[in-house]
This record gives sequence, structure tokens and C-alpha cells, in this order.
Amino acid sequence: MILRKTLIILFFICAVIVSLQSMAQVAAPFSQAKLPSCKYVSKHFIVYSYSREKAAYLAKKAEVVAGRVIGHSGVSRFASWKTKAIIVLYKTHSEYVKETGQPGWSGGSVGIVTHGPLTHRVIYLYEGAPNLFSNILPHEITHLVFMQIMGPKASIPLWLNEGLAVYEQKDKGKNLKIIAARNMNKNNDIKLDALIKYEKAPEGKPELFYGASAGLVEYLFVVLRRPYYVKMISLLKQGASSYEAFRGAYGKAFKSFPSMEKCWKKYMIKKYCK
Ligand SMILES: [Zn+2]
Repeated sequence: MILRKTLIILFFICAVIVSLQSMAQVAAPFSQAKLPSCKYVSKHFIVYSYSREKAAYLAKKAEVVAGRVIGHSGVSRFASWKTKAIIVLYKTHSEYVKETGQPGWSGGSVGIVTHGPLTHRVIYLYEGAPNLFSNILPHEITHLVFMQIMGPKASIPLWLNEGLAVYEQKDKGKNLKIIAARNMNKNNDIKLDALIKYEKAPEGKPELFYGASAGLVEYLFVVLRRPYYVKMISLLKQGASSYEAFRGAYGKAFKSFPSMEKCWKKYMIKKYCK
């Protein structure tokens, strides 16, 4: 069965972390993607797989993960997407690459497709992907949930979108944060000013980008006072840039942007650079 897409509106990031050496970033557009024959429908998802049992299992896992991610988001009432999100589970990595047009190092991806009058959010996965249920699925579902929470007018910076997605992985991107912290300690890291401007992960140093992004989310979300974070999200929802949102939300906590960067890096080095 072929899903006929009239338009790819957006092929979202997907920085699915398969291993430290293999991370995806921006996905290449593709024209058609085959849907496996078995289908299972749950509260938020329609899962396609080559086995009904696997589709049902994945749907149940996805619902649990979505509930957890929504809970972590702090929103009291989650207004779910109007049409159920599709999850496609291919049989092999080569089939996944062929059907999605993703690079070979990609372990999963998320996008939005229109199918007739309906717009669906879609997650593409494949059986046997490393850390599929512990890391990849939570990562991709976090993107969907966060996009929905932020709404269409929001300016969603890549560092925040990826940082949150990594944060929701079971490993919370610990190894990536260690790499980022070690580079901070050597003053060979991505500067905060550059980090918040990336629209796709930088070539050649994706692990620094993901590690720094995950570390920044952790610092803002876990270490600093939560009302600041809530204020930052609110400003981003209204279309503010990261810099404007930092200034509006953390202006009282730090005397300047450089002092915020200094405190964040001090935290990272102390916690992850051992
Ligand atoms: Zn991602």
C-alpha cells in the first residue's frame, strides 16, 4: 500500500541517535513511502507494520511514552493532534532508508505529510534499530508532542527541540553530554550564541550539538527555577527568538548572556567532565 503524499510540508530534524557515530539530522525529502500491510489503531497512533502483533506492541509502547512525555511537559491539558499520528515500522534498515530517503546512519525520523484532506504526523522506524524502544521512540514522540504543545505560531529552536528529545531518551544523552562537557573544558565547544542559531545540526560535530543542546535543556529545565523555563516556553510560543526568550525569562537570574553561558558550562563541566 502506498501513502500518496501531495505535499511534504516539513521533514523535521531527526536526530535520532543510533550511536555516537551515527546520528541523523535533517532528513532528505522523499516522494512516496510504502506502508506495511498490517495496521493497529490506538488512542493517538495508527501503526503500520508487517505483523499485527508487532504493530499492537509498538502502539502500546508509543501510548505509554506519549503519556510520559506529555506529563513531563507540564501542560495541564494536552490538546492532541486532530488526526492520529502514523508510525511506520519497516522490516529492515535498508527498507527504511529506501522508503524514506534518509541517510544510512539514520535510525528513525519524523515528519508531517498530507494525505488527501488530512495532515498526519508520521514517525518512521525499522525493526531491530538499536535502542528502538528506550531511545529512538521516545526521541521521536517528544518531537511530535512538543510541536503540538508549541503550536503553529511558535518559533521552535532546534537546540530546544533536539535537547528535549534527547532528554526524554532513557539514557538522557549522557554520553553526548560527556563529550560536550569535555570539549567545554578544553574551550573547544560550540558557543551558546552559535548553538541557539543552528537550524540543522552542524556537519562534522553533531555529537557536540546534541550533547550541548541536551545539557542546556537539562540546566534550564532541571537545575534552574521552573518558572523561568515556563516563561521561556511562553515567549517562544509567541514567536520570540531564543535570545529574546532567554532575556525575557532569565534576565533576572543572570546579569548578562555571557554570564548565563558561563554558569551553564560550569555546571556541565562539574557534572559530566570527570
Ligand atoms: Zn530529533
